[in-house]
Amino acid sequence: MTQTNFTDKQIKVAIVSNGNYHSRGIAHKLFTTLRDDDDFYLTKRYPDVVISIGGDGMLLSAFHMYERSLDNIRFVGIHTGHLGFYTDYRDFEVDTLLENLRSDKGEKISYPILSVKTTLSDGRILTSRALNEATIKRLEKTMVADVIVNDIKFESFRGDGLSVSTPTGSTAYNKSLGGAVLHPTIEALQLTEIASLNNRVFRTLGSPLIVPKHETIEVIPRRLGTYVITIDNKTYKHRDVVKIEFEIDRKKIHFLGSENHTSFWERVRDAFIGELDDEI
Ligand code: NAD
Repeated sequence: MTQTNFTDKQIKVAIVSNGNYHSRGIAHKLFTTLRDDDDFYLTKRYPDVVISIGGDGMLLSAFHMYERSLDNIRFVGIHTGHLGFYTDYRDFEVDTLLENLRSDKGEKISYPILSVKTTLSDGRILTSRALNEATIKRLEKTMVADVIVNDIKFESFRGDGLSVSTPTGSTAYNKSLGGAVLHPTIEALQLTEIASLNNRVFRTLGSPLIVPKHETIEVIPRRLGTYVITIDNKTYKHRDVVKIEFEIDRKKIHFLGSENHTSFWERVRDAFIGELDDEI
């Protein structure tokens, strides 16, 4: 059956999948089931629900595919890999997801995301959003940069680079950098250092810094050169970055609410601690 026009009652669904054989098999099953169901309308344009099949990396890519229409979309992830932080359904739970979609009442769980504004020496200003984090590093040599927190010159950084993460991104690169795990109801950014050099000339706080919503973090590189800026799983190279500004975005990411979207602490435990042995 080929769907033509959708009705107001139908849920518009986009399916995005990584290239993995297993993921593509699941995508095919979902596609054929939803295509033949009058409650749903399959479309890549202006969907209500985006189903991402793969791992966290695929969910990050799905977020960036639809980052301009976040208000109207709820995301849901099926994970076919070994660890899923953003993915609520395992590969064998496709039928549960279909049941939950059929009984859906529009429930959503929303998390803060990061707004990143990069000013280049030619005057261009590039704006992006990150779900996990953004990082800045200097390609050729040590990065030297001033760090301004909410308009106050806070420190001069010297080292590999800096990372600014969201609360849900706090369990990703931020955690490897020694940052704290932050509950996503705390709308805050977290600045972590990447291999800072500390001596009598350059002194930084050395601890992760948690900055609340409405406050900004600015990084002003003090040397010309090529900078590598990462936004989640995307990497960009820019010559002569003048400034990069971070704050909590006015938009949020929304996930499909259901029993499968377990609490943040359950997800942290399942991802990092695993099964607890009650005998010990
Ligand atoms: P990837 O394939 O190297 O995967 C990175 C790992 O991070 C995967 O196991 C993924 O499940 C996990 N992950 C992603 N987001 C997470 C989150 N919010 N909480 C807990 N775990 C999470 O890279 P990718 O798929 O392209 O993902 C990009 C992400 O990788 C970046 O956003 C960054 O956070 C992370 N990363 C981590 C390190 C590090 O820990 N040293 C270095 C670079 C990038």
